[in-house]
Amino acid sequence: MKKYFAMVLAALACCILASCGGSDNSTSAPASADASAPAPNKNAAPLRMITEATFPPYEFLRGQEIVGIDVEISKAVAEKLGRPFSAASVNFDSVIPSVISGKADIAAAGITVTEDRKKNVDFSIPYVTTGIVIVYKTDAPFLTGEACKGKRIAVQGGTTSDNYVVETLKQEPDRFNSPAEAVAALQAGRADLVIADIDPAKNCVKGVANLALSDFVNKEEYAVAIAKGQPELLAVINEVITEIKANGQLDKWVEDYTKEADALKE
Ligand code: GLN
Repeated sequence: MKKYFAMVLAALACCILASCGGSDNSTSAPASADASAPAPNKNAAPLRMITEATFPPYEFLRGQEIVGIDVEISKAVAEKLGRPFSAASVNFDSVIPSVISGKADIAAAGITVTEDRKKNVDFSIPYVTTGIVIVYKTDAPFLTGEACKGKRIAVQGGTTSDNYVVETLKQEPDRFNSPAEAVAALQAGRADLVIADIDPAKNCVKGVANLALSDFVNKEEYAVAIAKGQPELLAVINEVITEIKANGQLDKWVEDYTKEADALKE
């Protein structure tokens, strides 16, 4: 029992600390994805999601609020647990460390499952199959990874695109805090191409006449990450993912948030 109180206290302390930095938008549970979910117990510790809100349609800012597919998935987990929900955004390379250190409970940020990351966190079952692509200027196309060798490549730091450039192309990329910043460097002539996840890349080139995307240079899968050794939490996350895949909710979120994120560009 003592241990339980210590854990609750530690969780509360983390919440207070977490709310000092970044954009922390605590929200109550959303319109339900699962009508049978219990009402959140306001006294329960909130399920603290950590993400990186420059990654549309998975997470982006609607004004001050962090919204997107990953936020909905995490809210559905909080709902199933009967816990309130909060979300905070940090740079991508701090997302996984945040769950390892206990600053957050659940990391959902279009996180690709990799063998390296599996050493440090537990992953849920995947919720999407996707991959990384090249963003290029149509007057200087790059269609394969091989063609990018020796070029000035911009990426979001700490991502699988970053890893791809270092490990497969054997060079150092220029690292930015978001796919959009990497694309801005390309447009400004400070990079020859960008490598990024396909969905935020699509959002970046939406309505921009001089940019286009290659086919996948690497196929990947996204999953939710949590600190190791929490089989009950992992089981609930997997249950939610299985449900939203089966009942069409995930597809609906993908459709709705892709539309919203694209409209924000207009
Ligand atoms: N899917 C990529 C990765 O896991 C990028 C994720 C992101 O930038 N939010 O590295």
